[in-house]
This record gives sequence, structure tokens and C-alpha cells, in this order.
Amino acid sequence: MSIRPLGCDPSLCLIAGRWQAAQSGETHPLFDPSTGELLAQIARGQAADIDLAVTAAQAALDGAWGRMPAVERGRILARLGQLVLEHAETLADLEARDVGKPLSQARADVTALARYMEFYAGAVDKIHGQTIPYLEGYTVYTLREPHGVTGHIIPWNYPMQIIGRSVGAALAMGNAVVLKPAEEACLTTLAFAELAMRAGLPVGALNLVPGLGGEAGAALAAHPGVQHVSFTGSVETGRKVQQAAGQNVVPVTLELGGKSPQIVFDDADIDAALPFLVGAGIQNAGQTCSASSRILVQRGVYDAVVEAMSERYAALRVGPALEDPEVGPLISTRQRDRVAAYLAQGQDLEVAAAATLPATLPAAGAYIAPTLFAGVSPDHVLAQEEIFGPVQVIIPFEDEAEALALANGTAFGLVASVWTREGARQMRMARALRAGQVFLNNYGAGGGVELPFGGTGLSGHGREKGFEALYGFSSLKTVAAHHG
Ligand code: NAD
Repeated sequence: MSIRPLGCDPSLCLIAGRWQAAQSGETHPLFDPSTGELLAQIARGQAADIDLAVTAAQAALDGAWGRMPAVERGRILARLGQLVLEHAETLADLEARDVGKPLSQARADVTALARYMEFYAGAVDKIHGQTIPYLEGYTVYTLREPHGVTGHIIPWNYPMQIIGRSVGAALAMGNAVVLKPAEEACLTTLAFAELAMRAGLPVGALNLVPGLGGEAGAALAAHPGVQHVSFTGSVETGRKVQQAAGQNVVPVTLELGGKSPQIVFDDADIDAALPFLVGAGIQNAGQTCSASSRILVQRGVYDAVVEAMSERYAALRVGPALEDPEVGPLISTRQRDRVAAYLAQGQDLEVAAAATLPATLPAAGAYIAPTLFAGVSPDHVLAQEEIFGPVQVIIPFEDEAEALALANGTAFGLVASVWTREGARQMRMARALRAGQVFLNNYGAGGGVELPFGGTGLSGHGREKGFEALYGFSSLKTVAAHHG
């Protein structure tokens, strides 16, 4: 079976407005993680293709795209958002097959992609410079300008959402984009590029080069014609990308995942918290940068929370993505083996609950049983490293000081949530938590495209989403006029 995303040949790159094979003619296989079946052959782009794409992007900046007023760029993004909604079911189906993402979660990603386009379409002509009071005889003002060519290296777990937040904001600010999707999943990326052309995006404003990380990805991060790199993925690759971009002295946004805690105090509304305590751990089979993989629980409600979470875990429905289960497969058998190796390191721990894998699951699918560990020591590897699978640990604590020390006690700092009714404690915790986003009596806030997102520590640096992304995808020029 070979899928054709919105009629496109999946084995091609989009460069300078033309679908074309990689220069080498090579392709790379894409598998359906729910079944193990071959889905398509994608282009195996390499340095030569990246070179062509960067040249095409620069030509777009020197041409119609570079001269287009903000309001016109906004109109194109608005049309693109509309096209995404019109093809919502096709996109959701592609994402479900490609990522192994349960259909309703894939549908939510389509909605988010459309929302990003709508948000940035509306925001693009509302980014202003400033006038700055200065010495007598001067008028000083600032201009927000695009960086130029921006490189976007995205992972397989949320292709549509990450395109929305990084490519959407970069295009809104007038950059020309070269996009390198993940080799494990990129069908909706191809469909998005096709829709962008249909929406009237000028030739070369968006170029797409599928390929392997060490080839196309490395070439994009190191290309001297790229003026900004946006990367989402692992810490290990993030380091390489930052080093490569550093050779060209260009800015980098790194979004590298986390070990995000939810902190449950004795006075919390446990019934309200429960769906989030489990849901934020198993969404997309735990393959979410902002997954909540650590649940910190105060002693007074510890037993009740362990019991309630265990009941939910035991009842979790695991299955093929198109059957819309609560938990689908992992992205690949390689990722499943990686998570299984972590589970093996938890052999001596107390397994509070694990879901049962139905016997009817396709044998070649990349399934793993969601597993909840209780009473885990905070320095255990399962409590410290990003597992990227449906695995959560519960850790007890005595008081606020200990909760804070535990929450901040990993090398990551992406998001955190606090469940408590006490207002003053909410404020203290929100200030003291080391995280890019803090949620009080919720988790994720529905994913709001308006809300700046990014991390500290090993979770990375820079912010995407909201207006912050528009600042990140532009540079500021100060103009000082001396007129006497
Ligand atoms: P990865 O970081 O290797 O891949 C992410 C993207 O980077 C892909 O597009 C890949 O092709 C590209 N890439 C790989 N090597 C590159 C290089 N040398 N230069 C430039 N680009 C390169 O992640 P992975 O191997 O797919 O997954 C490994 C682990 O990373 C996961 O188990 C998980 O822990 C973590 N991860 C995190 C996120 C996140 O959203 N935080 C996403 C994916 C993976």
C-alpha cells in the first residue's frame, strides 16, 4: 500500500514550488506502527537537496514573498487554516496511520494546526516596533524584521502541532522556511506543504526536504544560508543542532522534552485532578514532550491517588490507532524496545498497575502495556530520565518544601502543575517551580496556541507559540535618526 497525502507522491521533496525527487533518487520506508505494514517510501533528501531548498528560500525572500505586506501574509495563513479544516478528516487519518496516534487525538492535532494558522493570520499585522525617547535632536524607532531563511527540524510525535507553532509563526513574520520532518512520520507534513501551495503561498516561501536526521537534518542545521534554526526532539540531537548552528553564529530554539511533574497536595480536588494525572501521562502513548511522567503526592492522599490511578490504568484500552483507543502503539518497534529497556530497569519497583494488551493486537505493531510505578525513589532512573512511553511514576512527599525540591530535582524544566485549593501556596509554587509553563489546578490548559511554550535546563531554550514566537522568529533593528 502506498498512501498519497492529498494526491501528492510521498517520495518527493517540495523545493521552489515544485515536487521533485531527492537529487540522489533515494527513498526511505515509512511504516504504520499500528500494523507494521509499509505505508510509503519518502524522499531521502541529503545535503544537495537542502542546498537547493535554502537557495529557493533565499530567492523567495529576494522576490514576491520578501516584498509582501504583513496583511497579505496573514490572508494566506488564514486561507491555509481554512484548507486544513476542510481536509480535517483526511489529515487525521494520515496522522493516525503514520504516527499510530488514536484518531480523536489526531483530530485534536488538526484543530490545533488550523488554530495556529488562524492565530498567526490575525497576529501578523499587530507586531509593532517602538519609538524610544532619546537625546535632543534624535528620533529613534525599532523595526521587527524576519531573520531570513529559517530551518525547522521537527520530530514524529506531533508533526502538525509543531509545524503550526514553528512554521506558522516563521511564515507570519516573513521568513522563508526549509522544513525537515522526521523520517518516522511525515505524511501530514507533505499534505500541509501541498495545502500551503493551494493557499497561494509564493514559490520558495516553504520548502520541504524529508530525509534522515544525520543527513538532511545535519545539513540543514549547519547550512550557512540559514539564519535561524528551530529544533524539537531529543537532548542528544539538540546539542548537535546547537553546535552546528553555532558555527554560523545563528540563533537556535530548542524544545527537548522533559520529566514534568504534577504535584498533588492533601487539599486537592482529587476527582478533578484524576483525568489529568493519568491522561497527561498516556496521551499519544506518552510520546509527548510535555507528558507528565512524575506524579508527586502528599502523604495524606497518597494511598487514595495510587488506588484511583491504578484503577484507571488497569482499564486503559490499547489498540490500533484507527480504532481510536485511549492508547495506540509507539512510533516504532525501535521506540518500543527503548521503552521496554526502561521497564526492565523498574523490575525491583512496585508496579501499581499495568494495562493488559489484547491478544488481538497486530503482532507486528509497536505496542507496550502502559505501566504505573508507585513509591519510586526520586533518584531512580525511571524518575529522572525521559522515557517517552506510557510510563508514570508516583513519588510521595511530606510537605511543600519537599514537593518543590522533588519537582525541581531533575535536569529538565518544561512544564509543571500544582493541585491545591490554597491560593497562597499556588502563588509560591508557581514562582518557585523551574518550568516554562506552570498549571494551577489543571494540566496543559487545553494546549492553547496563544500560550508561550518552551523550557529551561535540558528542556531547551527559546519560546514558541503565542506572540512570543513572533518575537523569536524576528530580529529587532534600531533606527536612530539625527535631525537636529
Ligand atoms: P531525534 O532528536 O533524533 O529526532 C528529532 C528530529 O531531529 C528528526 O527530524 C530527526 O531526523 C532529526 N535529527 C536526528 N539527528 C539529527 C542530526 N544529527 N542533525 C539534525 N537533525 C537530526 O529523536 P528520535 O531519535 O526520533 O527520538 C529519540 C528520543 O528523543 C525519544 O525517545 C525521546 O526521548 C526524544 N524525543 C523528544 C521529542 C520531544 O518532543 N521532546 C520528540 C522526539 C523525540
